[in-house]
Amino acid sequence: MTSVERHPYDVVVIGAGGAGLRAVIEARQRGLSVAVVCKSLFGKAHTVMAEGGCAASMGNANSNDNWQVHFRDTMRGGKFLNNWRMAELHAREAPDRVWELETYGALFDRTADGRISQRNFGGHTYPRLAHVGDRTGLELIRTMQQKIVSLQQEDFKEHGDYEAKIKVFAECTITELIKDGDRIAGAFGYWRESGRFVLFETPAVVLATGGIGKSFKVTSNSWEYTGDGHALAMRAGASLINMEFVQFHPTGMVWPPSVKGILVTEGVRGDGGVLKNSEGKRFMFDYVPEVFKGQYAETEEEADRWYTDPDNNRRTPDLLPRDEVARAINAEVKAGRGSPHGGVFLDIASRMPAEEIKRRLPSMYHQFKELADVDITAEPMEVGPTCHYVMGGIEVDPDTAQSSVPGLFAAGECSGGMHGSNRLGGNSLSDLLVFGRRAGLGAASYVEGLADRPAVPESDVDSAAKAAVAPFDEPKDADASENPYTLHSDLQQSMNDLVGIIRKAEEIEQALAKLEEIKARVPNVTVEGHRQFNPGWHLALDLRNMLLVSECVAKAALRRTESRGGHTRDDHPQLDSLWRNRLLECRAEGEDAAVVAKEQIPMRQDLFELFEYSELAKYYSEDELAGHPGGEA
Ligand code: FAD
Repeated sequence: MTSVERHPYDVVVIGAGGAGLRAVIEARQRGLSVAVVCKSLFGKAHTVMAEGGCAASMGNANSNDNWQVHFRDTMRGGKFLNNWRMAELHAREAPDRVWELETYGALFDRTADGRISQRNFGGHTYPRLAHVGDRTGLELIRTMQQKIVSLQQEDFKEHGDYEAKIKVFAECTITELIKDGDRIAGAFGYWRESGRFVLFETPAVVLATGGIGKSFKVTSNSWEYTGDGHALAMRAGASLINMEFVQFHPTGMVWPPSVKGILVTEGVRGDGGVLKNSEGKRFMFDYVPEVFKGQYAETEEEADRWYTDPDNNRRTPDLLPRDEVARAINAEVKAGRGSPHGGVFLDIASRMPAEEIKRRLPSMYHQFKELADVDITAEPMEVGPTCHYVMGGIEVDPDTAQSSVPGLFAAGECSGGMHGSNRLGGNSLSDLLVFGRRAGLGAASYVEGLADRPAVPESDVDSAAKAAVAPFDEPKDADASENPYTLHSDLQQSMNDLVGIIRKAEEIEQALAKLEEIKARVPNVTVEGHRQFNPGWHLALDLRNMLLVSECVAKAALRRTESRGGHTRDDHPQLDSLWRNRLLECRAEGEDAAVVAKEQIPMRQDLFELFEYSELAKYYSEDELAGHPGGEA
């Protein structure tokens, strides 16, 4: 039998970003024992990198804002493919979740009269992002960690042990979920430092593992984001949806090469920064798509007036949803009007005094100064699209966050549905809070309702351990031995070049062939040394997840023969009403991904009627519009 350290818990949360921490707090407040496991250091997650803010219709900056407007913006941003129930819960509950953070000790920036200040962001009708300068995610994580410490202090008083109810397992990677029959029974992984194996025996797992960005070469994501949660869920029998929709953020750094892809927050444009091409032209006015015509300013003068008088002017097209801006930048560069290093210019220097820029965007100022030797208060930045966020993820019940596998829950970026084909900026932090809480509640209710606890089959633990050490085996043919870094880099390059921001059938097919070839080489991956901190081994294990998830993205992208949100097909450049209500679901068949199409559940009537008939008519078929009162006139 494999030597494995064992830990029994009521709930195991995999991931210590915003979604994971919020789930931990909720499950613990229901009295359950919770382990939180994270691959990196506790506190180092994407959430901590979030700069711009957290979207919530608090109405502080514009009293016209409310959950219905936020709901509409979210659905529009996602081009109506969103799971509308998730979008509804998110819009309704986000303001309470932001307030709640202040009860944990967060301190958001304030308006002159002392309310939480809110900033403009792409696709949001009103200033809606609660923020802390450009370090909002850091404040979220700081306060949720602080809340966890305060709960641990309460536990110490009651049980004499700080870790009686919540224990953090940092730098510990989960490689397999274990089931008893059809329900979750545990999670298997290894300590990154020692390589020792660890088993969590638990009836409920909340996946909160974040994104998949590391499957692409140019990305704002850091090393942890290899799609582990997505792949773990698939291998446990759950489905993923919307995997063809990958968000390429329009503004990543393009220079120097060592920092290519690092994010330049949308807050720069929200606070007044504008995009220009090499001719100095504010080109976004040329790229307002038909479905948004009439909603955005048509002249620079109107766009500039909007910053100070939003009620009487339309917003700048610099703040169109991200997919539109990313495509526009791509087109300008292709047309030869790009910046010297293959991006375009983002100018805030000419738009406000240097001190104001440093006050509002301190991280951006330092990021450019230190990494590119550019002073953003004096010269424009060079920016271009970077793989940023995956809209696709584990399919869950909107209210409980449970997947189709009993005992398996998911929240945050690794879950799917909420954002449809494209996420609005700021809607992720609010998503983490709303659905992290719901996943914690869902898992707690599930555990409380169990008649008996599942048992971990020992044979499955042995198989998980065997799979984990496989990269140390000698290859059968020494000449065929593969280096995990080479395969990793081949995978990233293929996804970047062939399933990136602009796609076409023949290139996606090439990508799929390349993925097959890489998959065939994986069994020959060998790593040297031993299990003690061995990054080559860690990467060899991540590769399996990256391949499965990349295959989902490519297969779904090939199947969807239209362009919508974060999926642009050069060979099918328009929205196609045939695809309006079709979702693509991915399931694992062994180590392969299979994709099937299914219909979206029609929107509830009261939500449907929140939209003007004329707007829906741009997306919906006549049949779908039949029940809308606007059509009867
Ligand atoms: P993360 O915060 O990504 O955390 C994932 C956790 O899972 C980590 O703890 C990781 O170690 C752990 N993990 C992963 N795999 C495993 C495994 N196998 N075993 C154990 N642990 C594992 N959104 C906004 O709304 N507003 C913004 O202003 C904003 N700015 C952003 C800026 C940047 C640079 C980036 C990259 C993203 C930004 N986003 C923003 C998006 C947002 O930050 C993320 O979508 C969100 O934080 C994801 O949170 P999460 O809780 O789902 O996962």
